[in-house]
Amino acid sequence: MSVRVVARIRPLLEKELGKDVIVRPDRVEEGKPFTVVKIPNPKNETEEFSFAFNSVYDQTTTQEELFTAEVAPHIKALFQGLDLTIFAYGVTGTGKTHTMRGGLRLADRGVIPRLLSNVFRRGKKLMKDTNGRTTVDVALSYYEIYNDKVYDLLEPPEKRTAAGLPLREKDGKTIVVGLSERSCGDLKDFERLYIEANNNRVTAATKLNAHSSRSHAILRVKVTQTTGDVVKESTASAIDLAGSEDNRRTDNGKERLVESAAINKSLFVLSQCIDAISRGDKRIPYRESKMTRILSLGQNNGITIMILNLAPVRSYHLDTLSSLNVSSRAKRI
Ligand code: ADP
Ligand code: MG
Repeated sequence: MSVRVVARIRPLLEKELGKDVIVRPDRVEEGKPFTVVKIPNPKNETEEFSFAFNSVYDQTTTQEELFTAEVAPHIKALFQGLDLTIFAYGVTGTGKTHTMRGGLRLADRGVIPRLLSNVFRRGKKLMKDTNGRTTVDVALSYYEIYNDKVYDLLEPPEKRTAAGLPLREKDGKTIVVGLSERSCGDLKDFERLYIEANNNRVTAATKLNAHSSRSHAILRVKVTQTTGDVVKESTASAIDLAGSEDNRRTDNGKERLVESAAINKSLFVLSQCIDAISRGDKRIPYRESKMTRILSLGQNNGITIMILNLAPVRSYHLDTLSSLNVSSRAKRI
């Protein structure tokens, strides 16, 4: 199991132009790429905290650059049978959805459509190179975890039950019972499905008077390669996590407290798992939250990439600092 933790600082939004920028990337040595994020101590601004990452991307980084550097190199391993898990972590408004889903313009497309496009391309090539002896199937599941309950996003919100979908253990793995899976032939297929599912997500949240930033959205791409009797299966998971901000600070309604307890717990467990994996621990506390349990985080022989999204401006100061503190490897140095 290998894990990379990287940070991505987004550019200023139009409404932020002229605002105070307090988060900056840095390098440990002249000429080296960025691996450090610096932020002032809110209690004493003459002092600066430094956090180290495997890599730090500044506001000029394009979607293509991020994908090429962090995700593309692992797609070969996915086809060799390893699982790939990519998280976007951070405060609401810092660019998680932009990083994972991105915009409609080709250049703005995020990790998810690029991953799919890459997988389809590689799959087609493999079938061609083997003269059809190997077939490649790509199947998608897409679900969200809200208040520690699992809901299928490929199904319309009317079909949801209050309890959500149950989990069950099977062959040492946790499965979501009744989760749908759709076969996908190409990027067009995928996009149709993905847009519909994201609409389901927004509709369901609106009904509950909630916001989709308070749930974790998990896209699972199952790649099955079949050559005669030999079947090789691997999974790429792309997760747009719930916002890591402390909801108690902004809104102390009862609902929000319930949500915030569930969100904080699962994000805390996630960071503990990432920590344990990067230390090479044998025991990884992945059973402590539904999200990490479903992903069997640390149990498989795979690659995990955590992208910490950061906003550069002062209005996020405390939340930014706490997300830097929580995200592992982002140790104060
Ligand atoms: P989150 O999902 O973390 O709440 P979003 O992805 O919705 O955040 O981003 C918040 C805003 O910032 C959106 O308007 C988004 O388009 C913009 N944004 C985020 N990252 C970037 C980026 N790297 N380049 C340009 N705009 C960005
Ligand atoms: Mg979002």
